[in-house]
Amino acid sequence: MPHVPAPAAPPASLVDPGVTGDHELLCALPIAAAVVSRTADGTLGLDAWNPRFVETITGGNPHLDRCAILRAAADGPIGAFIDRFLEHPGTAPDEMERQDGSGVRTRYFRLKMAPLPDHEGRGRGLLSLVEETQERRAQQHLKDQMLQCSLTGLPNRLAFTDAIEAIASDPARAEGYAVLLIDLLRFSRINQSMGSVVGDELLISFASRLVGGLREGDMLARVGGNEFGILFSLKGGASDAIAAAERVARLIEEPFTLSDLDIRVDGAIGLALLDFGEDGEEIFRHAQFAVKQAKANRRPTLYEPEQAIAARRRFSIETELRRALERDELDLAYQPLVELETGRVTGFEALARWHHPDRGNIGPSEFIPVAEESGLILDLGRWAMDRAARTLASWDDAEGDALPLSLSVNLSAIQVARDDVSAMVDGALRAHRLGGERLTIELTESAIVQDPMRATRVFEQIKGLDANLAMDDFGTGYSSLAYLQRLPIDLLKIDQRFIKGMLSDADSIAIVRAILGLAHALGMKTTAEGIESCELATTLATLGCAHGQGFYFSRAVDARRALAFWRAREEMALREGRIDSSPARRVRHGR
Ligand code: C2E
Ligand code: CA
Ligand code: CA
Repeated sequence: MPHVPAPAAPPASLVDPGVTGDHELLCALPIAAAVVSRTADGTLGLDAWNPRFVETITGGNPHLDRCAILRAAADGPIGAFIDRFLEHPGTAPDEMERQDGSGVRTRYFRLKMAPLPDHEGRGRGLLSLVEETQERRAQQHLKDQMLQCSLTGLPNRLAFTDAIEAIASDPARAEGYAVLLIDLLRFSRINQSMGSVVGDELLISFASRLVGGLREGDMLARVGGNEFGILFSLKGGASDAIAAAERVARLIEEPFTLSDLDIRVDGAIGLALLDFGEDGEEIFRHAQFAVKQAKANRRPTLYEPEQAIAARRRFSIETELRRALERDELDLAYQPLVELETGRVTGFEALARWHHPDRGNIGPSEFIPVAEESGLILDLGRWAMDRAARTLASWDDAEGDALPLSLSVNLSAIQVARDDVSAMVDGALRAHRLGGERLTIELTESAIVQDPMRATRVFEQIKGLDANLAMDDFGTGYSSLAYLQRLPIDLLKIDQRFIKGMLSDADSIAIVRAILGLAHALGMKTTAEGIESCELATTLATLGCAHGQGFYFSRAVDARRALAFWRAREEMALREGRIDSSPARRVRHGR
């Protein structure tokens, strides 16, 4: 076993004066260091050391026997480490960690060896000793600073997400905690108008008021310029989280008095529950997402996964759609159907519109599926049929004649399956004294697929009223050619998916050609949907498509603008000599 003998009787200076070179070297070193060597007989010895070395190994205690300490060290792993290094200076480890004492008295050391030039044929090395407590303390301080907001002294975002993560990774605690984020609204305006000193003061007052409202074990952090976060334990699940948010909301309701001014702040509060194993950052982002929603909702909002939000929205749309139908809050918009050859408007498609007082416009692609699922589509379909017929009759009245226009109304397959469609259509025509030829019913292929027998009957009844039948979104469904041939369909509406792709994609153009050929063979007319450019309109006209519809001509507009659009187009066609006489002109002359 290698052995570090105790240094010879302690010299007054504590430095072995024997080797001057070593002495100078050691005195120049700012760290605790000693020169070690292996003597010819194989024993390890300390040749020289600096005062720091002694101070370090004795912990600054002059009463400790450093010789005993060194002897003990040399007998243990330290001796082995030094020995190995001296024997194989190129390959042996040159660093080792060492711990002395226990508990708060624990001292950590890092031992490093560096080779020294050979001296009298002995292996030699420089042993340096760094006590790490100082260094660790400095690191901790730095970390504290990194984890702290310098203005409020609160933990910052990094510390906050670390704390969230620590709890989320503990199965015993994760589920019982929530994160609350408060976004101080209009804070930047206060900062700009009153100066950053007042802004800082506000943040500090705000923080201290929040601190006052915390329960034991809660953590408050400043997580952004105008954002604070609270990590708190729940006594009773999600409802407790909302109650906590309301408490915080009340807490910040009272104005803050700063520089003799009363300042009211408003905060959006978002909440997220912790989930075992979830990432701290992720939970934090959930809470941020909830803050965004809280701004829109104007009340504290708990984060829910997207599916839950979608389901809730669907549910509330259903309730509110029912109410909107009862209160007649839906509208129809009319999109012109244009004869591609002449540019004349021959009709309009009626499209349902819903302007929700709080949520703004909700599109039919969102509320029609909800209406279909809930059965509200029956009322909606009846309403649309009646409203469209009424509009057309009002146009006739306004122009003083039956206009050469027809209206297309969309009917859901569900209506075909469950309602008496022909009675409904008949009722609307009669109520507004319109001929059936003024109406086109648009159905999708799904209306046939579900119950072909019933569909056949309904289609024939509609034809019996002289109304027209259009197959909507043609090309996207699964109707068989046999039915197409057998059913009294007047018009195929080519789905906009194919029209949009036509100019760039050879498949789309082949499909459009095929549908046009098929329609021609079956004696049906065609309308191309989704025409957004002049180029598409002319290409389709060249291919033999009779009608088109799309943003290039016009979006769906309200009844008044739709009629004006028709009139303007008629006058233009007349001026340009594309038609001989216009009913609009004729009507006006007759007045
Ligand atoms: P749809 O019957 O295929 O109606 C055409 C849709 O394409 C309309 O969307 C229209 O605004 C849109 N559109 C027209 N031209 C263009 C264009 O150039 N580019 C693009 N990107 N879109 C264009 P909208 O109004 O959002 O209606 C969506 C769907 O909702 C309708 O598709 C229809 O299936 C359904 N819908 C609308 N109103 C009713 C209704 O009263 N009853 C029923 N059952 N369904 C309706
Ligand atoms: Ca349609
Ligand atoms: Ca369509």
